[in-house]
Amino acid sequence: MDVRFACIAGGEIYRQWGPLCGQDRRVAPRSTPFGDSHEIFLVDDRDCPYYLLPRHGTGMRKMTPRDINNRANLFALKDMGVDSILAWGPGGAITHDVAVGDLIVLSDVADRTTQREGTFFEESPLGFLRPFPVFCPALRHVAAEVLHDLGLHYHDGGAAAVSEGPRMETRSEIRILAHVGIDYVTHTFVPEVFLAKELQMCYAAILYVVNYAETGSRHRPFASGGLFGGLTEIDEAQRLARSLGSMGAVVDKMAQAAGADSPRCGCDQPMAGQIDAYDLSSDWRKWFANGSDA
Ligand SMILES: [Zn+2]
Repeated sequence: MDVRFACIAGGEIYRQWGPLCGQDRRVAPRSTPFGDSHEIFLVDDRDCPYYLLPRHGTGMRKMTPRDINNRANLFALKDMGVDSILAWGPGGAITHDVAVGDLIVLSDVADRTTQREGTFFEESPLGFLRPFPVFCPALRHVAAEVLHDLGLHYHDGGAAAVSEGPRMETRSEIRILAHVGIDYVTHTFVPEVFLAKELQMCYAAILYVVNYAETGSRHRPFASGGLFGGLTEIDEAQRLARSLGSMGAVVDKMAQAAGADSPRCGCDQPMAGQIDAYDLSSDWRKWFANGSDA
């Protein structure tokens, strides 16, 4: 079976797909030169099958961002034939032009992480790449079209700062980000997006707005104490739940659309210069110092 589309998300995968994440559809963990991937599920009862990779590991537990083996996860998906990835993740809105529960098709990130393994090429010059555009423009377009067709509240474009975490950001940190024009803050999507580029894969990200970042909002001041002090209104929680409830339909439609044609987005080219300059093998698995051990 030719499966070329995958969705990476958090615990929402278990809530959305439920019984589909059973042992009979579990096709990984998969051994890679960078360690074992997380578990991966094959959803094959749709017109266009796809893989699901829960980012935070098995079940509903949530490992800290720096403990996620992103390199093994991306390597495993590529090795399984995937060339397009849709990533979902939560974020706080710094801009007040969006509402809690809105879906954002991100167009840029500012990497503020410090402890994550952000390249496959730590001991070679191969990772010297230009991350522009950061996200696949064709897959972003597909995402926006699907969200529009489903009648969801979404915004096409926006820049997210990715903090190391696991703690949330201080008010001063958010003020700094707001000052330089950052719209959202999250702990997700990095280094996934950069690793996908090194493997020449299409990658797009949908951020769902969980709360307003530590600036308070124009609607009400922040309450102290709670994890999501800005997420106190029942209607906002319901709105967010509705947005997350759409995840299955969004992934189904995107898997179909992404499989319908192969857009000329250029995501299969970032390594072209390196392949020429360093006479790299046509087998991408041999680009890594330890690739032959895969
Ligand atoms: Zn692409």
